[in-house]
Amino acid sequence: MAISISDTGAAKLKRFLAEEAKAEGFDIMAVTTPDAIPQAGARLRQYLAQGHHGTMVWLEETAERRADPRALWPEVRSVIMLAMNYGPQSDPLPVLSAKDRAAISVYAQNRDYHDVIKGKLKQIAGRLAARAGSDVKVFVDTAPVMEKPLAEAAGIGWQGKHTNLVSRSHGSWLFLGSIFTTAEIMPDMPETDHCGSCRACLDICPTDAFPAPYRLDARRCISYLTIEHKGPIAPEFRKAMGNRIYGCDDCLAVCPWNKFAEEAHETKLKARDDLKAPPLETLLALDDAAFRAFFSGSPVKRIGRDRFLRNVLIAAGNSDDAGLLARVEQLLCDPSPLVRGAATWALSQLSEPKYFRKLRKKLTASERDDTVLAEWWLAYQQETGEER
Ligand code: SF4
Repeated sequence: MAISISDTGAAKLKRFLAEEAKAEGFDIMAVTTPDAIPQAGARLRQYLAQGHHGTMVWLEETAERRADPRALWPEVRSVIMLAMNYGPQSDPLPVLSAKDRAAISVYAQNRDYHDVIKGKLKQIAGRLAARAGSDVKVFVDTAPVMEKPLAEAAGIGWQGKHTNLVSRSHGSWLFLGSIFTTAEIMPDMPETDHCGSCRACLDICPTDAFPAPYRLDARRCISYLTIEHKGPIAPEFRKAMGNRIYGCDDCLAVCPWNKFAEEAHETKLKARDDLKAPPLETLLALDDAAFRAFFSGSPVKRIGRDRFLRNVLIAAGNSDDAGLLARVEQLLCDPSPLVRGAATWALSQLSEPKYFRKLRKKLTASERDDTVLAEWWLAYQQETGEER
C-alpha cells in the first residue's frame, strides 16, 4: 500500500495515538485501512437476505455505506479502532437465579456508553487533527460503520462464534469506537480466529439464537427482543427470557478469553448499585415520569417506559412470586396496549385459574385492542386447551 509519510513519521504518529488512547482509558488501539474488509459487504447482504436483522431496517437502509468505509467518507485514508474492556466487577450470571429481581445487561448498568466513548474519541481525534493536520471523524455503534470486521482487520480481536469481538488480551466485554482520518498511519496486522473447538457461547444461549457458529439470528436474541423489538414478545421466547429485562449477557459472560481480561483490566464503568439487581416490584410501579427519572442518563431510557414495562412483566410472569400480582393487576388497565398485553400473560402465569377467568370475563368486556384480546384468548386457551 502507498504510505506518503516517512516510516519514522508514521511510527511516531502511531506511538502518539497509542499514548493518547491509553490516557483516555482505552485498552487497545490499532489501525487498519478503509479497503481492509472486502468480504464484509457480502456477509451483510447474506444476513439481511436471511431476515436475521428482524425489524432493524436501518441496517438495510445503510448497507451500502456500511460495507465500505470509503462509501461513508471517500477521503478516509486510515481507520483507527479503539477498544475498551467493560467487564463486570463480579459474575453477572447469578442474578438470573434471583427470580424476583431484574437482570439488566452489564453495559447498561450505568451511563450510556455511547456518550462516554464518543467524548473520549473526540479528545483523541482533536489532538490527532492538531498534530497531523488531517481531517477526522469519530463513530460509535449507531453510525453505519462495521466496527467488528474493522477491529478484526486492525488486529484488535476476531469475531467469535457469538459474532462479537474477542480479544486474546481483553476477552469479550469490549466497547468499540473508531476514528476515521485523512492521515496515513501504518496499519496493523489482522487477528485470526482463536475460538477453536469451544462452543460455550452457542450452548448457553437460552433462545437458540445461533443457527450456526458465527451466525446470529437477531430475531431470537434476547438483546434484540428486549431492546429493539417494539411489539409484544412472541410467546415462544417468554419463558426463556427469565428475568432478563434489558439485554442479555450470557454468551459474553461464558467466553473463556475473559479470564485474560480479568488479569489485565480495572473496571472503568462502574455499575450503579440500584441497577445491579433491582426488585421487579419496584420496576412494575414506574410510571412514565418515574421511569425517566430512574433511568436518567442510562441507555435503558431509550426503549421508553412501555417497552420496558413489557419486559418487566415477562420477568414477573416468570418469577413464581404471587406477591407481584397486585402490581400486575394494576397494569391490566394501563393506557398502553403493549403493557396490558404483557400484564395479561404475567397474570396467567401467577394467578389461580379461577381468578384469571374472573378477571378475563370482566376486562375483555371493555377491551377494544385486538392485540390485548389475543393475549387474553391465548392465555385462556393455554389454560383450558380449548380451541377457538
Ligand atoms: Fe443468546 Fe443471550 Fe447471546 Fe442473545 S445475548 S445470542 S439470547 S446468549
